[in-house]
Amino acid sequence: MPKIKTKFICQECGYESLKWMGKCPECGAWNSLVEEIEQNSSKTYIATTNVVMPLTVDEIEVTEEERLKTGLDELDRVLGGGIVRGSLILVGGDPGIGKSTLLLQVSKNLLLKGYKVFIYQVRNLKSRLKLEHRG
Ligand SMILES: [Zn+2]
Repeated sequence: MPKIKTKFICQECGYESLKWMGKCPECGAWNSLVEEIEQNSSKTYIATTNVVMPLTVDEIEVTEEERLKTGLDELDRVLGGGIVRGSLILVGGDPGIGKSTLLLQVSKNLLLKGYKVFIYQVRNLKSRLKLEHRG
């Protein structure tokens, strides 16, 4: 059985990479790398672009997402049953309303379940900037 090697070739400049990248490091083009299969003995290249065919609504398979319970019933209810894997949740609210406390409680619950927790906090810097008026 011939060994199949694949590589990704930029369609703009011909740059070759063993892994897919969103941006070509050579010419800077976006989404220009296309996977090509090289068969070991011959130098035949087969372009394999990822063709995605549209589906009708009744062809779409609906699967129930596995949701991660936060340990806070009200939060799980607001999130539609818990956190969906790979999802991003924006928690917003007035200063002092308890966003950090809520997320620390969720973090504690998830840590106790053995999950790793990463927290990024985005602050509204506009109110912290002192704009100087000149002239
Ligand atoms: Zn390129």
